[in-house]
Amino acid sequence: MDKIHYEELTWPEMRTAIARQPVILLPFGTIEDHGPHLPLNTDNIIVEAICRETARRIPGEALVMPLIAYGLDEHHMDFPGTISVEMHTLLSYVVDVATSVARHGFTHLLIVNGHGSNAPVADLAARRVVLETEIVCGAISPNAAVDPILAEPTLSQMRRSGPGGIAHACEYETAMMLYLRPELVQMEKAVREIGQLKFSYFNWDHPEPSALAWQDWWSRLSESGVCGDPTVATVEFGQALFETTVDNFIRFVREFRLIPLRPRRDRH
Ligand SMILES: [Zn+2]
Repeated sequence: MDKIHYEELTWPEMRTAIARQPVILLPFGTIEDHGPHLPLNTDNIIVEAICRETARRIPGEALVMPLIAYGLDEHHMDFPGTISVEMHTLLSYVVDVATSVARHGFTHLLIVNGHGSNAPVADLAARRVVLETEIVCGAISPNAAVDPILAEPTLSQMRRSGPGGIAHACEYETAMMLYLRPELVQMEKAVREIGQLKFSYFNWDHPEPSALAWQDWWSRLSESGVCGDPTVATVEFGQALFETTVDNFIRFVREFRLIPLRPRRDRH
C-alpha cells in the first residue's frame, strides 16, 4: 500500500518515491482564535484534511508533509492562545523546509495554505524556492477555492448565510468543522457577527474578491473573533464543500505535476 505521509517513509522508500516524482504537499496553517465555538487549530484541521484526503485518493501521485502549524498571526494576538511568528522568520522557515525537499531531488512542491494571512508568505516562499533551487514550487490556498466552488449551483443553493456570512469562523469554516471534527464544534456558542469588512474597495465575503490588501488588528473589527455567520452552518454543507474542494484539488495537483522543468538559457 502506498504511504501518503512523507514522514512515515524510510530513507530507502524515500529514494524510490523520489524516482516516481509525486507532488509534495506542504500544508501551512496557523493557531488562532476562531470565535467562541471553534478551536484554535481550525485552519490546521481543514487544510490537513484536504491534503490527506487528496493524497489518499490518488495513491503514488502525492505525498503529504507534516503541517507547518504556526503562521503569520500578529494581528490576532489580542485573542488568547494565538501564536504569532515574525514574518521574516516564517518566510525563512518555510523556504528552508521546502528547499530541503528540493535538495533530495523532488521536483514538484506545493505549499498548501490554510490561513488567509499566510498567503503572501506562501507566495514569496514558493518564488524563493523556484529561484534558489529551480524546482517547480507553487503556493495555493484551497480555501480560496471556496470562491469558484461557492458559485457552483448546488453549493450556492446550500449556502444559508447572506452577504458577509463567509469570511472567518464563518458558515464555511464551521460547516467544514461540523463535517471533519464535530466533537470540537460548540454550536450553542456560535454567534453571528457580520458586515465589518464591506467598503467599496474592500470586501471580505466570499466569493467576492477585494482589490485592496489590508489587514487590521482583529480585535478592532470583531468582538467575538467571528466575521460571518456560523449559526447557519450544517454538516451537509460541510460535506459538500469538502468533497468539491478535494475533487477540484485532485485535478489541480495532477495538472501541477505535469508542469515541465524547463532549462534556463542565458541570453546575455
Ligand atoms: Zn480560519
